[in-house]
Amino acid sequence: MFLSIDADKCMGHGRCYTAAADMLSDDDEGFVAQRGQTLQVPDGLLEEARDAADACPEGAISLRDAVDADA
Ligand code: SF4
Repeated sequence: MFLSIDADKCMGHGRCYTAAADMLSDDDEGFVAQRGQTLQVPDGLLEEARDAADACPEGAISLRDAVDADA
C-alpha cells in the first residue's frame, strides 16, 4: 500500500502526523514534512495510514495499492 500527500491540497492542519506519528512528521511551519511525496506504508502501519487519510480535512492524503506509472 502506498500513501500519497498532495502538496497543493495540504493546508497544514496537522492532523495526519498526529494520527500517524510513526510514519509522518511535521516541518517547521506545521505542514506535514512528507508533503508531495508518495510513501510505501510499512507492514503494521496500515491502520495508521488509513487514520491519517481519514483525519485530513482537505482530502490531501490518498491510499492506493500501487504507484501510478505517471505519478
Ligand atoms: S492533515 Fe492534511 S492538510 Fe493537515 S498537514 Fe496533514 S495532509 Fe496537510
